[in-house]
Order: sequence, then C-alpha cells, then structure tokens
Amino acid sequence: MRKTSFLCVAFIAMNMTLHAQVVIDRDAQIEQMTREVSADSLKAYIVKMVSFGTRNTLSTQQDPKRGIGAARNWVLQKFNEFARKSNGRFSAYIDTTTLFPGGRGSRVDSITLLGNVMGILKGTDTADKRIFVISGHLDNMRTSVMDRIGDAPGANDDASGCAAVIESARIMSQRNFPATIIFVAVSGEEQGLLGARFMANKAKTEGWQIEAVLNNDIMGSNNSSETNIINNTQIRVFSEGLPAYEIEKVARNIRQMGWENDGKSRQLARYVKEVGERYVDNLEVVMIYRNDRFLRGGDHSAFVENGYAAIRFTEMNENYYHQHQDVRMENGIQYGDLPEFMDFEYLRKNTAMNLSNLANLAKSPAVPQEVKIENSRLTNFSKLTWKAPVVGKVKGYYVLVRETTSAVWQKKFFTKELNYQFPYSKDNYFFAVQAVSETGNESLAIVPTAGR
Ligand SMILES: [Zn+2]
Repeated sequence: MRKTSFLCVAFIAMNMTLHAQVVIDRDAQIEQMTREVSADSLKAYIVKMVSFGTRNTLSTQQDPKRGIGAARNWVLQKFNEFARKSNGRFSAYIDTTTLFPGGRGSRVDSITLLGNVMGILKGTDTADKRIFVISGHLDNMRTSVMDRIGDAPGANDDASGCAAVIESARIMSQRNFPATIIFVAVSGEEQGLLGARFMANKAKTEGWQIEAVLNNDIMGSNNSSETNIINNTQIRVFSEGLPAYEIEKVARNIRQMGWENDGKSRQLARYVKEVGERYVDNLEVVMIYRNDRFLRGGDHSAFVENGYAAIRFTEMNENYYHQHQDVRMENGIQYGDLPEFMDFEYLRKNTAMNLSNLANLAKSPAVPQEVKIENSRLTNFSKLTWKAPVVGKVKGYYVLVRETTSAVWQKKFFTKELNYQFPYSKDNYFFAVQAVSETGNESLAIVPTAGR
C-alpha cells in the first residue's frame, strides 16, 4: 500500500511560477525492508540476551554461557552471520577499552575490559564519508548497579534497543547504500555511558563524519503498571534544544534568528518523525523537547556532548516496576525486566521506524551547501540560495516551510534549481533546504543563514 505524507496539493501562482506542494511516495525498496522486520526475530534475540543471566558490565567474561562476555560474543556471532551473506560489505568486531576503578561515586570497582560490538555496513560510494549510527546498550543492571552476580534479565532495558540494532543489521546488510551505517551494541551504559563515551570520543578524535545517531533505549513495552495506560501507537523521540557544544559560538544566531528550536538534534528529531510516520502505519513519533528524561541518562548524550546530532527513542509509558529492579514478588507486584512484559508487535513498529530512517538517510545525497536567505532589502518575498552537496546524485531540492510556532515542517516545495523565491515572508516563517536523491530520499534539513 502506498502512503503519502502530504495529501493536499496546493498551487499558488506567483510571478507566473507554480508552487506545488510535494507529494512524497514511499520508496519501494525501503518499504520492502520495513516489511521484513519481524516481531518473532526480535523476540528470539531478546530471549537469547536474557538467557545470559546478567549482562552487567562488571560481570564475568570467562563463562561461555553467562555474563557480558558471552552476550557480546553472541552479538558478534549474529553480525558475522549477516556478514557472510553481504558480499564483503558488512563486517563486525568488538571495539574494546580497559576501564579502571575510579574514585568516589565511580561505578567501576575493578579493572574491566569493556567491549562495544560494532557492525559496519560500508557505503558503496567511496567518496561519501558520511556515517549514520543506530545504537542500543547490551549491558544492564539489577537494583544495585554494582551487583554483577545475580540475575538481571534486562529484556526491555535494553535488549529491546539491541534487538532493533541486530534486526536492522540483518535486513540492511543485504542491501547497498551510498553512505556507511554503523550498528552498535554498546556496553557500560548503566556504569555511566562508558561505552558510548569511548565511541564518541574516538569518533571525534579520528574525525568520523557521523551525521546522525539514533539511540534506542527502552522501546518495547506498552504499559506503565502505575497508571494502567496502554500505548503501542506512539514512541517518544528526545532531542536537545540548545547545543551543549560550542554554545557561545552559536548563541548569537539562536537569539537573533529565533533558532532555539532548530539545533542539529532537534532537526534530526523532526526528520525521523516525518520519515518514520511515512513508512510505519499506526505509529506516531512524538517529539519531546528535552535531551532526556528526569533522573535518567542515555548514550545519545555522549554524542551530543561531542557536537553530533543524536537523539533517543523511548516508549511512551515506562514501567518502573520493571526497570533496574531485582526480579521478585512484593505486595503482589512482579518486579523485574522480564520478556513477558514486552509487546513485540510494538517493538516491530519501533524497529521499522528506525530502519526506514537509516535507509532514507543512507540513500539520500549529502546536505546542500551554503544555504542562505537573501537579506539585502525589505520584501515579503523570500529568496533562498544554496550549492549542490559534496556527494550524492541529486534529482533536486525540497524547500521546507513552517510557522515559527510549528513543531514540524508544514509545506514542502520541489525545485531542480539552486535557488527558490516564493511569497512567504522570512519574518513570519522558518525555512530549510534538503537535497533529494534520484529515488526521492531527502537529506537532513539545513536552515539558511542570512546572506546576500
Ligand atoms: Zn537503558
């Protein structure tokens, strides 16, 4: 079934030019991939991850069946299975670093080898250096984060996120994309985002061109026992508003242009909402205007702090009886993060939402360059100009429009030119430009700076 994002098509005559709003069809290849996401596969991965007893970062790495060592070897083995069918484009390894006991407040009390399981799907365009990342955390915790002995199932937190990573890798590793995708199951999240920090710092030091990080953490359960709310049609996307990085440098523009809602990560959140809802039926991506929840952290923050666009996906209603709890019955309540509390159909939709976004991004051209809005005279027309992206074949460009109070882009126009003039005053609207591939996949949106 085809689904279009903009059902109404409006024509506005201006200077003999037709401004037709764009109707976007699903890309058939991406639609096919989203259909291949399987609730049964996701369930099987989660049951397997739970079978390792505990995946605490400090747990055993010698036991072949129990602990974080066995768990990460299993993820590596899954990735290697996919790699064998990928014509050499997909490869996997465990990226390790040694953790040393810290001082007061440290959640590491012994020398520990930390390992992030990395699956790399190399882009087919050697000139294209862009990297898109999907992540989940393989480690978990009991009530005490230092308890590395007792059982910690961690089905939802965060075998759900890792299952989404593995399932996306299974399907996408059989296809070609111009840009590179990294599928990663990090470790050390509960110990203080240690695996994500290790990866983000390395990426920055080595100059990896990461354009987006989709972090999945707690996204496969549909209810909170406290309120009895059941919700399997919405998922939250958390994104920071003001950049944590180089705030001094960008603060002036934010104040003058009203850009407090157009940071990199917020822009990415807006993108994933539109594309995710285009490809997944009966799922709404709900933007939350904050970097994360109260009293909690997540791996995307390690990337945000290093200047990358990074967001967090989390289910609508978290169940605190099941998170970070020893498995037990107390006053008639079952505590513990067990697979029986999960909704695998909901997790299937959330995984398909991730996959459609990763695929659309990896198939898109790079972003347009030097996007500017003409600011040399008083006029109610606006003129945007830009240059072609550095890499990627371009069919044309989308010019995006939204009111200053709107959370999402409201109108989208298409042009093959490197400029666009239309009767929307720059005083009253926000604009952005996306490059569009020959198969209709749009890049991330770039907001214009004022220029002449
Ligand atoms: Zn988590």
